[in-house]
Amino acid sequence: MANTSFRRGIHPPESKMTSDLPIRQILPKLGAVMVYPMIQHIGVPCEPIVEIGDEVCAGQKIAESTHGLSSVIHSSVSGIVKDIRITLSPRGVRCKGIFIENDDKYTEHPSIQPNADYKAKNRDELITIIREAGIVGLGGAGFPAHIKLNPPPDKKIDTIFINAAECEPYLTTDHRVLLEETEKILMGLDILLHMFPEAGAIIAIEDNKPDAVEKFNKLNKNERVTVMTLVTKYPQGAERQVVYACTGKEVPSGGLPLDVGCLVHNVDTVIAIQQAVVNGMPLMRKVITVTGEAASNPGNYEVRLGMTFSDLLEASGGGFTSEPYKIVVGGPMMGVAQYTLDIPVIKISSALLLLTKEEALKPPSENCFRCGKCVDHCPMGLVPLDLNYYADKGDGKRFLKFNGLDCIWCACCSYICPAHRNLAQSIYIMRQEILDSR
Ligand code: SF4
Ligand code: SF4
Repeated sequence: MANTSFRRGIHPPESKMTSDLPIRQILPKLGAVMVYPMIQHIGVPCEPIVEIGDEVCAGQKIAESTHGLSSVIHSSVSGIVKDIRITLSPRGVRCKGIFIENDDKYTEHPSIQPNADYKAKNRDELITIIREAGIVGLGGAGFPAHIKLNPPPDKKIDTIFINAAECEPYLTTDHRVLLEETEKILMGLDILLHMFPEAGAIIAIEDNKPDAVEKFNKLNKNERVTVMTLVTKYPQGAERQVVYACTGKEVPSGGLPLDVGCLVHNVDTVIAIQQAVVNGMPLMRKVITVTGEAASNPGNYEVRLGMTFSDLLEASGGGFTSEPYKIVVGGPMMGVAQYTLDIPVIKISSALLLLTKEEALKPPSENCFRCGKCVDHCPMGLVPLDLNYYADKGDGKRFLKFNGLDCIWCACCSYICPAHRNLAQSIYIMRQEILDSR
């Protein structure tokens, strides 16, 4: 099938220097203190259900919320709860966190039991398993998977996507799991198709991963599943853009993919669903790309959630080739800059970028000279220079009138602006202020 794409967008340098490096498992050392922030998802924060001094097992639920829009949190190691206090999440927010000292035994909680035959379970039973496993959108959005998989009855789902575009520069975890966990992904997709018997599925992969496309074309025997190759372009992996590229359907302003009959799941989320449904395994692990010119040992690492990035670097034998000019958790376009490595890997973490000055230096902002480049490249068809103006003025009314809430914070506008204006940053802050006030 011909390569396909969406309108506008940008072509930043790919810099995927770790794409050929197999995933290495890294375990936290004896006595390492794991940190579990209570916000690792979109929705209401969790509350701890353990107390200081409790002994916990790996895979034991340690936090939950009574609110529907939330996702439970498990310990990823066995050990002792040492503290419960305010901590810093890699998303830059302060929230309550549970601190657990690793006993190095990895004793699993007795609730972890394989399930015999998922085809004998109905959708509600599978949704309960996925909810109790604490699975959220692992591509970075963090939307609780059990809610996404339970659309309102009037929304008929005809297409399930495995989103494996991985359009952010530097990131290579999706590429590696596509190659190394192919069977798990296809089984995870089979579970989703069992839950939506009238739907077909699309595995969407950018054309910079021809080995992954070839492998899925070879191993996929399911007639309901199509492998589609997408043009390598940013932000190809955004939900609306992947839906448009593959089906031509446009998600309406303020809407969701399910409004056009689509469910989009990141490839790592599908593996987590397979692990929960087949092996009874809650979400405890994450594959992280450690990269950047200042990283001395770049690679793709499977780590336990809650491990700090400083412990990850130490355990992987990594460090700095030179003092990083900027540290980012996530990709260079949508990630969050950090001032410390003593923050934990959480469900929505995808990468640790250790960037040199040459990679990260941004010239000072200048006045807008109305060249229109930000408009030409915005994948949402917005007018970033105007939204930036309304955001800087605090004019929420006009910001809303010109669809500021449709911004997906892809940062194409900031990237392309020859005046180096902080367009996406100001639009993001205004958008959050409006959403928080609702
Ligand atoms: S790209 Fe920058 S300089 Fe050009 S119109 Fe947009 S904000 Fe102004
Ligand atoms: S950050 Fe928002 S305004 Fe800027 S290009 Fe992306 S969607 Fe458009």
